[in-house]
Amino acid sequence: MSIVKTRIKPENMSPKVLIGDESTLLSIVERDILKWVGEGKTNKDIGHIIGKSNETVKFHLKSIMKKLNVVSRTQAVSKAIGQGFLSPHNGHNRKDTQPKLKICIIGLGKGGTAILDIFKEDPSIEVVAVADASPMARGVELARKLGIPTATDYRDIIKKRVDIIINVTGSGEVRDEIKKLKHPDAELMEGLSARLLWHLVEEKRRRIKERERVLKDHEALYHLGLVIENIDSMKDAASAILDYATKLTSTPAGSLGLFDESSGEMLLVASKGFSAGFKKVDRWEMRKGGLTSYILNQKGPLVLPDVRDYPNPNLLLVREGVVSLLGVPLTIEGRIVGVLYVNDFKKRDFRAEDISLFSLLSVYAALTIERVRSIEDMRQLSITDGLTGLYNHRYLMEQMHKEVERAGRHDHPLSIIMLDIDRFKDYNDEFGHLEGNKALKGIARILKRAARTTDTVGRFGGEEFCIIVPEIKKDGALAFAKRLLKEIAGTPFPNRKITLSGGVAAFPRDGKTPIDLIKKADKFLYKAKRQGRNRICS
Ligand code: GH3
Ligand code: MG
Ligand code: MG
Repeated sequence: MSIVKTRIKPENMSPKVLIGDESTLLSIVERDILKWVGEGKTNKDIGHIIGKSNETVKFHLKSIMKKLNVVSRTQAVSKAIGQGFLSPHNGHNRKDTQPKLKICIIGLGKGGTAILDIFKEDPSIEVVAVADASPMARGVELARKLGIPTATDYRDIIKKRVDIIINVTGSGEVRDEIKKLKHPDAELMEGLSARLLWHLVEEKRRRIKERERVLKDHEALYHLGLVIENIDSMKDAASAILDYATKLTSTPAGSLGLFDESSGEMLLVASKGFSAGFKKVDRWEMRKGGLTSYILNQKGPLVLPDVRDYPNPNLLLVREGVVSLLGVPLTIEGRIVGVLYVNDFKKRDFRAEDISLFSLLSVYAALTIERVRSIEDMRQLSITDGLTGLYNHRYLMEQMHKEVERAGRHDHPLSIIMLDIDRFKDYNDEFGHLEGNKALKGIARILKRAARTTDTVGRFGGEEFCIIVPEIKKDGALAFAKRLLKEIAGTPFPNRKITLSGGVAAFPRDGKTPIDLIKKADKFLYKAKRQGRNRICS
């Protein structure tokens, strides 16, 4: 058996259109190019449209001229029009060739003005005159601005040659008079039909407004995308998301919580429009039947026009005066990462468009949170020591530069403590490297627990630790280091007692740079070793 391969001929791939002489073939692309030339577009414009270079467009034009047997672009267009292939009514020509519908409006109150306002944008309609008995009527100013003749007596304008007279005065007298005076060809629109027209006009205006709003909303989302893309901290990302969420839904308050898998709690990372008391509760457990649990079990957004109607209302929200709520779970591939809320302090319904936009925002939000979280995880990984979880040498040095700089600028005290395990080689030799590792971890835990949040505790290298202690003078740091040594010496490690030796150096007395401070602390550390270990020197 043999497989027959059919080769597709080039002709089949690009359909050709036959025009004029049987032998003259123009491809669809060539036909389009000719149409655009006829509309006055340049080669560059055309290149843009078809996504090709000027040269390619020129090449196509040459081929067109050859096929049509002409020598210029203009000739090509006229020949194509002559053969009925191109319509002469295209582009900007069209406007001039179609007669405009001539209209006059009588009555420039709310209805007449709305009609005038919408007709001014319609190129097929020309409002030739307007009239209202009062020169102060709502639409008179607009008509003047548009250069449309205005009259206070409608009788002055209905004699004009118009196609339609729109009477929105509602007066029977005026109607009878118009009927008497108007040109027989002019159509009179009034009463119900005028009201209907007005409604149509209003409807059109509403739609235009709506379209503008939607465009604006999408622009906002697009803008949010650009902003978020450059954010790499969770706090900044969360406040940007919340900001946009409240803007898009026109709500005065909201919050964003992140799910902490390890504790099963929600952490409040951003809030807006609430009291300081609300922000203090920075994490909350998810109560069974509680609002957050309920929302997390939803696939999409949840609307509560009045939270007090919810059987198990969130007291924190009620206390803040929250009445209505729109919430959505933030999920990535079905995994919950958080929850986004917007709130209002009055009862309200959320519009369907706002809800769907909010939904769309939640997708953005979840993706961003995931991205920022992985950046933060990576950052955390790059500055921590794998074995002990303490900061690594690189971060210690960075931090020391910052703290030294700050202490110098504000003339504040700063101390550093260097610690080294005594006879640790022996410990390893006797109990094995793994046991040594366990001891390192145990010591790290003790150091971390004892330090203040402003201190930086790091593993300087092998079995050496370093603690940066800002705002503390040498004697304070010395006392702290001694306390640490005592605690460690008194901790029952599995194999045997472990002791440390240490040195304390203070800025600026022992050194004005990180290197000098470290050198000095090291010197004191070795002094402690020489003096018999399990002690601190300074
Ligand atoms: P000294 O009291 O003079 O400090 O004695 P020492 O034995 O602690 O001093 P030395 O610097 O000679 O030895 C340090 C030891 O620390 C050597 C090495 O086996 C051990 N060590 C360094 N890093 C690690 C580690 O990550 N895990 C384990 N288990 N041991 C380590
Ligand atoms: Mg050592
Ligand atoms: Mg040692």
